[in-house]
Amino acid sequence: MKKLFIVANWKSNKTINETEKWLHDFSGEFKRNPFSLDHKEVIVSPSFTLLEHSRYCASNLNLPIELATQDISPFDEGAYTGEINAKQIREFADYVIIGHSERRKNFNESDEMLSKKVELANKYGLTPIFCVQGKETQIPSDSPIIAYEPIDAIGTGHPDTAENAEDIASFFKRNHGVSYVLYGGSVTSKNVKDFTQMPNIDGVLVGAASLDAKEFYEIIQNA
Ligand code: PEP
Repeated sequence: MKKLFIVANWKSNKTINETEKWLHDFSGEFKRNPFSLDHKEVIVSPSFTLLEHSRYCASNLNLPIELATQDISPFDEGAYTGEINAKQIREFADYVIIGHSERRKNFNESDEMLSKKVELANKYGLTPIFCVQGKETQIPSDSPIIAYEPIDAIGTGHPDTAENAEDIASFFKRNHGVSYVLYGGSVTSKNVKDFTQMPNIDGVLVGAASLDAKEFYEIIQNA
C-alpha cells in the first residue's frame, strides 16, 4: 500500500484556545472511531504562534500527527528583523510548506526566493512541501514532496478533476524526479478518495476543510 500524506493548512486562522479545542475534538474522533494510520502521515500546519502549544497538546493527547509551518525565512539566522528561520522552526516542526500561491501573490515571493527557502529547509533537516500551480512552475532541486494546487481550485469549492491532477502528478514524477505529489484545492471528505486512489497522487493538502477537526478526521479516514 502506498504512503499517503494528509496535510492540514490552517492558513492565518485559530487562536491558542481554538487550537486546543481542535486538538481535543480530533483526539475525541480517534478515540470514538480508531483506525490504522500505518501508511498515512498526518501533518498539521498552524501559524507560528501556535506551534509550541500544538506540539505540547499533541504529545499529551498522544496524537499521531506531525507539525509543519506555512512558511520559512529565505535567510539563515542573523540580522533579519521579523523573520523566523529554518533552524528555529526545526525545534518545533518536521515539515514546511513553501511556495503557496497565496504567498507568491500577496508577498511577491519569487522563484529565486523560494529556492533559497527550500535550500535552508533542507540544510536544517526540515522537509519542504513545495507548492506548484501547474506544469510550468519551477521546482527547486531537492524538493522530494510537491503539492499541485491549481489556483482556480483553492478555496472555491471547485476542485480539479482527479484525472487532470493525476496527469500533472505523473508529469512531475517523470520530468523532475519528485518522489511524492500531493493534490490541493477544495478537498473534502467527500472527494478525497477520488484523488488518493490515483496511482501517482500521494496525498492531499487541505485548507478550509481542515479547520474543522471532525471533517479533517473524516478526510484522513476516507483517503
Ligand atoms: C490551500 O490553500 O492550500 C488549499 C488547498 O485550500 P482549500 O482546501 O481551502 O481549497
